[in-house]
Amino acid sequence: RKCLQRIKKTRHLNAYITVTEELAMRQAQEADDRLLRGKPLGPLDGIPFSVKDNFCTENIETTCASRMLRGYCPPFNATVVQKLLDQGAVLVGKTNLDEFAMGSGSTDGVFGPVRNPWSYAAPYRTLSHGTDPDSDWVITGGSSGGSAAAVASLSSFLALGSDTGGSTRNPGSLCGVVALKPSYSLLSRHGLIPLVNSMDVPGIMSRSVHDTAIALSVLQGRDEKDSTTVQAPDSHPAALPQEFDVRDLCVGVPKEYHAPGLSAETLSQWTRVAAMFERAGARVCEVSLPHTQYSIVCYHVLCCCEVASNMARFDGLQYGHRSAVESSTEALYATTRHEGFNNVVRRRVLSGNYFLLKQNYERYFVKAQQIRRLITEDFRRVFASGVDVLLTPTTLSDAATYSDFIQEDNRTRSAQDDIFTQPVNLAGLPAVTVPTSLSSRGLPLSLQLIGQRLQDRKLLAVAHWME
Ligand code: GLN
Repeated sequence: RKCLQRIKKTRHLNAYITVTEELAMRQAQEADDRLLRGKPLGPLDGIPFSVKDNFCTENIETTCASRMLRGYCPPFNATVVQKLLDQGAVLVGKTNLDEFAMGSGSTDGVFGPVRNPWSYAAPYRTLSHGTDPDSDWVITGGSSGGSAAAVASLSSFLALGSDTGGSTRNPGSLCGVVALKPSYSLLSRHGLIPLVNSMDVPGIMSRSVHDTAIALSVLQGRDEKDSTTVQAPDSHPAALPQEFDVRDLCVGVPKEYHAPGLSAETLSQWTRVAAMFERAGARVCEVSLPHTQYSIVCYHVLCCCEVASNMARFDGLQYGHRSAVESSTEALYATTRHEGFNNVVRRRVLSGNYFLLKQNYERYFVKAQQIRRLITEDFRRVFASGVDVLLTPTTLSDAATYSDFIQEDNRTRSAQDDIFTQPVNLAGLPAVTVPTSLSSRGLPLSLQLIGQRLQDRKLLAVAHWME
């Protein structure tokens, strides 16, 4: 009930697309009965959670924040949603995003932009950066901005996001919550409407590393409906070690992540936390990931190619929006897509089809696959040299104001902002962002830890120590 009240009180954030109030109250009642009988289903029984609106939810509208899917109610739950429901967790709503999860701001969905709750918090307001609440608010980051805002504004304890190039970690970082991108294949993608199948993973947002670990233990594991899933190597219980000894740890600091545009404050956080590891007895060493500079270009070629293929299912016939223009099948397809998708989606479909043309295929698609391999190899080499985790920034700086972010040239900046998050998706590694302090503008600053493939639990143990 408190969470539903918070949702109402924070309507101005635009974090939710659908609020599932009736269902939530029914589920909460059932959980309450179980808890009173002393028979909880598990650690998440009765815990309110929300889900990004690109995960299918049975008989609940699932829009991807696109006109194309308005009114679409899937007949099934995504595996990760079903797993939470099976544990008695209470679904309070579906959260806002960039259309089809394409973006880094949560500003590009058909339901309008999401506002960062920190825009209305005392530190930002009293530093008088935000004197006009209607124009000075800051973005959540994206594309899972609704989920991050829901957790940060205390209307959900846990939220699912999706992470293809940073979409869980970027908003998690800018909203000051813990956000995990698990190893590729550890969590099922069944029912997650795809952006880039070879990189998509469900992401977990919550208020602490400990909560994240509990959710991960419930969500991970092989799913016969997603052939890429694997069983976690350590079917370890949710609990993280109370006392984690960092003295045996080697923390790598990639020198290429000193990227242009990195704010002085983020840099000083990074240095401060590296020194903290060192003081506690960890070995901190500089490492090199030389192909980092190619990751954004490489990501965008591969992303557009997979998008071109994925979006072909939205033809106006099977589900979602259907244009009234039916003079021919081709005209129906074309006008349905024209009316249903925003410019960002259409641009990626066009670019992807261009990269995949017979005469371009080798030059763009195959080349990008090769570079992807080099980026993955960079990480493999560093971890093989004895490094346990990498410590990096998550974003270049704290959150931008909405008016700054939507300027055309800042759109380019937003792609650059993904520089610290994208390489990990190309390589399939786990990464988590943890809030570290507030900037001089009174907004959250966070750092990212990157782990070895399928060593998500060790990664969380280090994050828990750092938290
Ligand atoms: N910003 C990236 C993009 O627009 C990543 C999005 C994501 O992770 N879903 O593609």
